[in-house]
Amino acid sequence: MKEIACKLLVIGTGPGGYVCAIRAGQLGLDTVIVEMAKPGGTCLNIGCIPSKALIHAADDFYGAVAMAAGKNAMGIRAENPAIDLAKTMAWKDGITGRLTMGVSGLLKKAGVKIVVGRAKFRDGKTVAVETETGQQVIRAENIVIATGSAPVELPALPFGGKVISSTGALSLTEVPGRLAIVGAGYIGLELGIAFAKLGSKVTIVEALDRILPLYDTQLTQPVAKRLSALGAEVLLGTKVRGMSATGEALLAETGDGEEKRIAADRVLVTVGRRPVTEGWGREELELDMDGRFLRIDEQCRTSMRGIYAIGDVTGEPMLAHRAMAQGEMVAEIVSGKRRNWDKRAIPAICFTDPEIVSVGLSPDEARAGGREVKVGHFPFTANGRAMTLSSEEGFVRVVARADNHLVLGIQAVGTGVSELSAAFSLAVEMGARLEDIAATIHAHPTQSEAFAEASMRALGHALHV
Ligand SMILES: Cc1cc2nc3c(=O)[nH]c(=O)nc-3n(C[C@H](O)[C@H](O)[C@H](O)COP(=O)(O)OP(=O)(O)OC[C@H]3O[C@@H](n4cnc5c(N)ncnc54)[C@H](O)[C@@H]3O)c2cc1C
Repeated sequence: MKEIACKLLVIGTGPGGYVCAIRAGQLGLDTVIVEMAKPGGTCLNIGCIPSKALIHAADDFYGAVAMAAGKNAMGIRAENPAIDLAKTMAWKDGITGRLTMGVSGLLKKAGVKIVVGRAKFRDGKTVAVETETGQQVIRAENIVIATGSAPVELPALPFGGKVISSTGALSLTEVPGRLAIVGAGYIGLELGIAFAKLGSKVTIVEALDRILPLYDTQLTQPVAKRLSALGAEVLLGTKVRGMSATGEALLAETGDGEEKRIAADRVLVTVGRRPVTEGWGREELELDMDGRFLRIDEQCRTSMRGIYAIGDVTGEPMLAHRAMAQGEMVAEIVSGKRRNWDKRAIPAICFTDPEIVSVGLSPDEARAGGREVKVGHFPFTANGRAMTLSSEEGFVRVVARADNHLVLGIQAVGTGVSELSAAFSLAVEMGARLEDIAATIHAHPTQSEAFAEASMRALGHALHV
């Protein structure tokens, strides 16, 4: 096969890689992208999008079940709701299929050449790809490593049979009667709540003494309350030991040494994700590491000239929008533009019930630097729109410097608050002060009014509480 020479080679078509390649193509760079699985990476195929599709289907089904049970305050009735999970999965696959085709189309439109197969470095400028029709050698002036991440496997619970990862959970065609989940991070809780709504008896086992350890308890408490209302059992401070000899039950041990046997039809292990730093010839290179991740600087440059790395392979937060922003920046740098990682904050969302969104610093994080802060908190119980949505649980919280009122962080918990993340991120990124948010007219009736009210409250003059 004839060698390909190009200006930019991207390895991996996840959100980091495909965005980088599209932007590079738009900028007129001669760009090649390599993918060994489906375009779109983890996010589009087995991550963000399919999980949100399942969560939406579970919400609809759960609502219908509540109506059938006469538990609908609006007087809506339904009869005999049922779910055909195989059909739900086919609907979800239709969405991911449309999106992955869209990614291929966008890459082609930008003039990017797509090579399908596993890429392996030969040296810092050369990559060999094992394609269906033989080996394709690609020489590139610049190479971007965007190989992403994979689920962490526990030695005591290897994937296979009953033991599944998030990928397995997102392709189940029957709702498991009893679902045990190991790990109470955002992936475990998003899927756990969805399956609890679909009718599974969910038990969550977490080694730490709290759920969602990256968020403060004020934010996670409404989620814990909801898990309990859904009948999900959460065993905190409990370590898994493995499956029982018969494979019937998950074995675990509490902090007090008490043995737990959790009968389960499926065991979903969501104990984190590991960067994919093997399988692409790292041994042929001299790349510095930052713990288990590839070390990068503020321009996503690795320790080797002309080699960049973006996305999950480069560190936390392992989120699609961080990967995309890095990808876009690297394409611009390679094209000769002066760019640096100058983001003030990366929003993080848990699509749990209720949802959690966090941008910038929490009150404790802001105080940790010895800074004095003002915190404004506005509950959805005082928000008209939240009442009309039957979603009064939760609040918006704004954290600002006490001296000049510069907003340092914004958090919210509540139904649908993920969509408020845009306003929150914009405020932090633009360097808004409490007065800016308080003086902005927020449309009525919307949940976003709680954002303005929280800012007013931090200033000492909220109107509706
Ligand atoms: C269940 C779940 C839910 C999630 N939900 C969210 C969410 O709501 N919001 C959010 O922001 N993030 C979410 N994430 C995380 C998100 O999916 C990742 O942060 C994101 O996909 C990282 O993008 P990436 O480009 O770094 O890598 P990936 O998306 O992992 O893509 C890497 C690609 O590289 C390819 N590749 C690897 N090695 C090679 C090789 N040698 N040759 C060729 N190709 C190769 C892989 O096949 C893959 O397609 C979720 C993840 C999971 C698992």
